[in-house]
Order: sequence, then C-alpha cells, then structure tokens
Amino acid sequence: MLRLYDTAKAQIVEVTPRREGEFSMYCCGPTVYDLPHIGHGRAMLSWDLFRRYLEWTGARVHHVANITDVDDNIINRAAKLGWSWEKVVKTYEDEWWKASDALGCHRPVDSPHATAFIERMVELIAELERRGYAYDTRDTVYFEATKVEGYGLLARQSIESLQAGARVEADAEKHSPIDFALWKKASGPGDVPQWPSPWGAGRPGWHTECVVMSLDILGDGFDLHGGGLDLQFPHHENERAQAVAWGRPFTQHWVHHGFIEVGGEKMSKSLNNFTSLTDLLSRTDPRAYRLLVYKGHYRAPLDVTPTLTADSEAALGRIDALARRVANAPTVALGREAARQSGVAVEAFEAFMNDDLDTPGAVALIFNLVREANAALDTGQSQAGQVAARAALEFAAALGLFARVSEVIDPAAAALVARMDVARAAKDWASADALRTELQAAGWAVEQTKDGTRVHR
Ligand SMILES: [Zn+2]
Repeated sequence: MLRLYDTAKAQIVEVTPRREGEFSMYCCGPTVYDLPHIGHGRAMLSWDLFRRYLEWTGARVHHVANITDVDDNIINRAAKLGWSWEKVVKTYEDEWWKASDALGCHRPVDSPHATAFIERMVELIAELERRGYAYDTRDTVYFEATKVEGYGLLARQSIESLQAGARVEADAEKHSPIDFALWKKASGPGDVPQWPSPWGAGRPGWHTECVVMSLDILGDGFDLHGGGLDLQFPHHENERAQAVAWGRPFTQHWVHHGFIEVGGEKMSKSLNNFTSLTDLLSRTDPRAYRLLVYKGHYRAPLDVTPTLTADSEAALGRIDALARRVANAPTVALGREAARQSGVAVEAFEAFMNDDLDTPGAVALIFNLVREANAALDTGQSQAGQVAARAALEFAAALGLFARVSEVIDPAAAALVARMDVARAAKDWASADALRTELQAAGWAVEQTKDGTRVHR
C-alpha cells in the first residue's frame, strides 16, 4: 500500500485510488516564457517518479500536466523581445518538451493549454458570481476568499493571519488583501491576448485555469494534485477555494516536492544562480541528473553542484558496467509481476517506495545489489551474481535509470530478450516462440544459455 505525505493533512497517509488500479494525477505545469531551469527539471523528474513507480506496480496512471500559455510574464517577455505572445509560447513550450524528453520523462497523458479552456473558465467565474463568491470591480473580477470555510488549509494558517501577512495592494476596490483575480479586464483593444466575457474582454487569472482543467479532465475527487512547494500557497489554496465554492469534490491528496539549492543557497533569479536545464543537459548525462534527484527525497531541499553531478555520473558507470557484465539481464523495467516471475525479490524495493517514495533508500538498495552482484561474479558464484544483477537493473529501470548495455544490442531488442526470459520462466512457450520470431525478424540470432536468452548479429 502506497503511503504519501499529504500536505493538507500534514501527515503521511495511505493512498487508495478512487478507482482500483487506476491513479489520476494533476501536476501544475510550466508558464512558458523562458528556458526551463534545473528546478523545473526536478519537477519533471518528481512527477515522472510518481508515474513510473505506480505504473511499475501495475496501475494505470492518468497523468495530466497543464501548459500555462496566458500570463503576464509571457506578455512582458513578448514586449521585451518584440515577438508575438504566440511566438514566445511556441518557442519555450518546445524547449520545455525538448528538455523533458532529454531527461527521459514520460510525456503526460494530457497536457491541456489554458487558452483552450477560456470558455469553461468564464462559465466557472459566472457560477462563482451566482453563488456569491465573486465580485466585479473596475479592472478585475475578484474571488472573495474570506467566504470559503477552511481557507488557509494548505497555507496552514488562519484567515486572520493570512490577511495580516498579505501585502497591501494598490487596488482599493479589493475587499480583502487575500482575495485574488478571477478575470483581468483588458485595458484596450491592443492589450492582447483577450477574450470576451460578461465582465468585458480580458483574460483569466492563473488560479482558475488549474481548477477547471483538472476537474474537466479527471473528474470529481481525482487522486493526487501535485506541484512544487512554492505552489502550496497561494496557487493551490486558491484552486481549492474555487472548487469548494463551486461545490465540487476536489483532489483526494495534495503532494508537493522541494526546492533546488545551488551550493547550499536557494535558487532564485535575484541570486543569479538560475542554471538552465537546457544548459545542464548539454553538459551532463541526463541520467546523472535523474540519479542525483532521486538520491534525495522528493520533499527535501536538493543541492546541485558540478561535483555532485559528476559523482552521479560515476555511479551510473557502475550500473552500466554491471549490465555489460551480465548482458542478458533486463535493462528495461519489466513491472512488478514480470520482475517477480523472473526471480527478482521486489519486497525490499517496494517497502522503500511505498514509504512516501523513499528513493534515497531505494537507490542505496540498488548500489548494494550492484556490489553484491560483482562480488558474487568475482568469486565464481554465477547464479547468485545473476540474481543480484537482475534485481539491481530492474529497480534502476523502474526509476527510469536504464543501463546502457552495449552499442550492439538496442533497447528494443533488449526489451524483447527480457520478455522472452519472463515468458520462458513462466513456461509460456507460445509467447517465447513469438518473441524469438520477432527478434529473428529484426536480424538477431537467438540462443539459450544457462544464464538465459542471448542475442547476437
Ligand atoms: Zn496549477
């Protein structure tokens, strides 16, 4: 049973999906106006971890991550570069996916764009107005946060203390400093992008897009809502407030990942230590950044320095060397059941992962198995060495850390070999024969050895 730290409950809780064997998760995606930085890389890898692990256990995962393609930052960037806002969006969304692909992250099942949901957002704002939670001013339609019972749940503060702590805003028409914009009216025809609405042309506030898109795509009471710690308040608080006011059961669990630190300092634009992910990935094996991120717990602050990245690259070398030593071991994730059938004892790995995704524990287990495998192979204990290697490579692959076996055997062939071993172990001769035919059709000679299936050209 998976247990996760739920920010709203401030404790580790058991996670039971709304529908058995099927997890629904909505993770706040980027506002696309600049190159992704290494903190974004951590966000990509955190959600990829949730997704991969749940899929490895055999669950289906409906993973949704939005693209915020309407925002003041985009408009300001467009003005600065002399570009259209559409060009800014297209350029930096492309960069986002390029970096995500380079990191080996699964693309979300759905990645909705805010601009495709404007009509739905206008409908929600009208509904909130009907229900008495929204008020119209000269420039803006605001949400009246003080009317929502339990506002401050995610901030873990009372409404009074949030009001006392909020900065005083210029807009005198605002009822309370914690009220937030649902609709920002355009200043004129040149203030683009803009869409029509009952309150005048304009654009939606950021907090409204995620509540509309998550509920539209995943439905009431979806399982997980995630984001970085910085989104806990006010963004997620304000999403939740709108769902409460709308009368819709929102997410079951809130999960937040920690920040990146660069050499012990929090990363921020003012400290000028914003390293772009694009730059990091051009200089480093992307798997090394994945390993570095998973050496830390997803909720803890993570330090990123060139030395730590180099350490991770060296550690990956040990996984690759073991994979070459036992060339028939799987380097693709087989999934929990298939791994068990191929003789991997999955319990220790699962115990770490089910405990709030304890990847530091899981990574330590993998490297213990690597040492164990090499020690056994060094002393001629071939069987014990193969078993330990199989487990190490399977768990690494479950985290998306795929070993590089050789230049000769491509991942597609390695996957077929791994499936063939699983089929043979299960005495499923029909599947094993079909896989052999598939390998042969791709030009591979296939032979069975006492260590399992081997292929060569
Ligand atoms: Zn969001």
